[in-house]
Amino acid sequence: MAIQFAKRMEGIKASEIRELLKLTTRPEIISFAGGLPAPELFPIEEMKKVTLKVLEEQGKQALQYSTTEGHQPLRQKVAKSMAIFGIQAEADDILITSGSQQGLDFSGKIFLNPGDVVVCESPSYLGALNAFKAYECEFVEVPTDDHGMIMDELEKVLANTPQARMIYVIPDFQNPTGRTWPVERRKRLVELANKYDLPIVEDNPYGQLRFEGEIPPSIKSFDTEGRVIYLGTYSKTFCPGLRIGWVFASPEILNKYIMVKQGADLQASSISQRELDTFLDMYNLDEHVEKIKNIYRKRRDLMINTMKEVFPKEVKFTYPEGGLFTWVELPEHMNARDLMVKALEKNVAFVPGGSFFPNGGHENTFRMNYSNMPEDKIVEGIKRLGEVLKEALNK
Ligand code: PMP
Repeated sequence: MAIQFAKRMEGIKASEIRELLKLTTRPEIISFAGGLPAPELFPIEEMKKVTLKVLEEQGKQALQYSTTEGHQPLRQKVAKSMAIFGIQAEADDILITSGSQQGLDFSGKIFLNPGDVVVCESPSYLGALNAFKAYECEFVEVPTDDHGMIMDELEKVLANTPQARMIYVIPDFQNPTGRTWPVERRKRLVELANKYDLPIVEDNPYGQLRFEGEIPPSIKSFDTEGRVIYLGTYSKTFCPGLRIGWVFASPEILNKYIMVKQGADLQASSISQRELDTFLDMYNLDEHVEKIKNIYRKRRDLMINTMKEVFPKEVKFTYPEGGLFTWVELPEHMNARDLMVKALEKNVAFVPGGSFFPNGGHENTFRMNYSNMPEDKIVEGIKRLGEVLKEALNK
């Protein structure tokens, strides 16, 4: 058999990391590798009541096809929910998607031709890089510091990259680094995008999970020309299993997303949308988010404090004010993939950082998740990792 695959498949490869990560699902493994919310926080009892109510009161609609744009009452709630990020939106400005991941895929589909360049943070979210890669694009990474993308570097990149077609950023508690951009950089990004006439995709799954300090205004809130596409999701504030996210964009751009959504899957799940909408009517999501934040804050503190105690001082890591991740940098000569093999021997897992850099390198980094493991395992896992690090550094 010599079936021909499309050329775009050449860029789509199973990652060796994914193979390694399969091992991390073994029950004895203390895994800091995934990006999963804590399942013990899912409102299962509440969702039983919600599901029953939806099926009893709107069963026929919940199991039927529906509009591509999404369930109108949910669109209204989504529009209002963005006020905390300085965004004024109407229900009609929203498209409900199957998670924000679908919004990423659609962004690639709408803006990228083969050979076009996506400008992104260095490092960036692997799932987005893979989604864009399917459209045969290239990536130019913009250097970052503890406060996100460095704007002078971005300006240099934009001045030298006429093939740039889209800027992709995660300005709040970034995946993988946990870093957040200050307001000045957000404004400056919009100014630069205006100057170079580029769309910005702002991906904000974690912004609401802020453990301390004020929520900064979103990049979208500085958008005067309708060039920022804002992607949101209920995956981290509620649960990922319903697969509900959204796109907020100016009418001309949103229309493209709606047309592409029609071709992709017609609409987001009717029953998921109605369940979420009913949950939001019956319960207080803000209270639920407070509960999540309290648990994650404790886990972050435990992880960071234990790292400070047991990691050799040459090992640097970020202090996230929210979200799910901290980012570790080893001395340059070290390789986190090798370290992962040693860590797995002690039943501890993380994600080596190299794959978050679309153009390679930076093998001395790794990502740590603190949301998914109970407290005792966080302490035990970090202690074991400390031993692995000390051995690797010959201490
Ligand atoms: N963007 C980022 C930065 C993420 O970390 C994730 C999930 N890990 C997503 C988008 C996709 O999330 P979902 O499709 O569940 O909304």
